[in-house]
Amino acid sequence: MEKHKIKKIAAVCVCLCVAVVAVIIAADLVSSAREYQGSTTLMNTVVSFNIGGKDAKNVGTAVTSRIGKLENASLSRYSAASAVSRVNANAGTFCEADSLVVSLAGRCAELSEKSEGAFSPLLGGVSDLWGFGTQNASIPDNEDLSIALTAAKDGTIETNSNSVKIPNGTLLDFGAVGKGVACDEARKVLEESDVERAVISVGGSVLLYGEGQSFSVGVRNPLGSSNDCIGTLNLSETCVSTSGSYERNFTQDGKTYHHILDPKTGYPVENNLLSVTVVSDDGFLSDALSTACFVLGYEKSVGLLESYGAKALFVFKDKNIRITKGLSENFELSDDSFTILNGDI
Ligand code: ADP
Ligand code: MG
Repeated sequence: MEKHKIKKIAAVCVCLCVAVVAVIIAADLVSSAREYQGSTTLMNTVVSFNIGGKDAKNVGTAVTSRIGKLENASLSRYSAASAVSRVNANAGTFCEADSLVVSLAGRCAELSEKSEGAFSPLLGGVSDLWGFGTQNASIPDNEDLSIALTAAKDGTIETNSNSVKIPNGTLLDFGAVGKGVACDEARKVLEESDVERAVISVGGSVLLYGEGQSFSVGVRNPLGSSNDCIGTLNLSETCVSTSGSYERNFTQDGKTYHHILDPKTGYPVENNLLSVTVVSDDGFLSDALSTACFVLGYEKSVGLLESYGAKALFVFKDKNIRITKGLSENFELSDDSFTILNGDI
């Protein structure tokens, strides 16, 4: 009987809030062994679970442990034992890494090329100089910035079957993709289980899981508080990631600086955008493209998104919204102070 009840749940409403995603189950869920809702902190952000089906809680625990392992053993720049830390400590030479990190490094290098450098996973050293998210966040010294930026601009990531090489003077940073990759890893755990549906949010990336299920994902108002949404995306199973200028930032001398960097200048991107939300079945791509498109701006993003089969919603500083082909019908605007522009693209 319980199984039928869960199957009846048609809509799950998620409020997607760039770094902190609030997950709200809109239907009247029953709290039982077959339902698990919880949250924890991983990857320096909030990870929320909403899982329905057999052994929901155990599956949630398995997802937590998989994401924790991904962070500590593979992706984190702050865990000395991680593959990324080893690659960074061995800049200039090929360094052995696990197969996931080798594959991610290759995919990041490809996106970097396809985005004409707008997406740059070698900016770790530049990000560190800014210190976003730390007590010491401040505008970096010009000369330090120029040295770190030149190294990143001039080099590329190289990979072979089991190793990664980054240029001297650079630091590999998976900050723009890690949360989406965590969604992909979570999906693998779910696929090995008998759960029927799940919403797992890792900061600004959300995995919507469950064949035949329907989900509503709230898109955060970039000008409002973290619970304030401008509308909802009605979707079936997929991944959704948002990048925005309003999350990790600091203000110095009256000007606000955010964490998405323009690889041409080493400074935070300055354009007409407030946020970009990307929908792709591939979590890595949804996260990577949301950052890349934020840097590129709307016009240059459209072709890139198409080439990856991804769709996106752009929120501009003037409160206009543009939605790429095939996604408009999924979006319901709830804040009429924003306007959806009918693009010719
Ligand atoms: P969040 O980490 O808030 O989810 P994003 O997915 O947009 O946001 O990723 C931003 C992070 O990506 C930064 O904190 C930094 O680690 C890294 N980054 C910043 N600028 C770039 C860029 N141009 N290309 C690739 N990675 C970047
Ligand atoms: Mg990203």
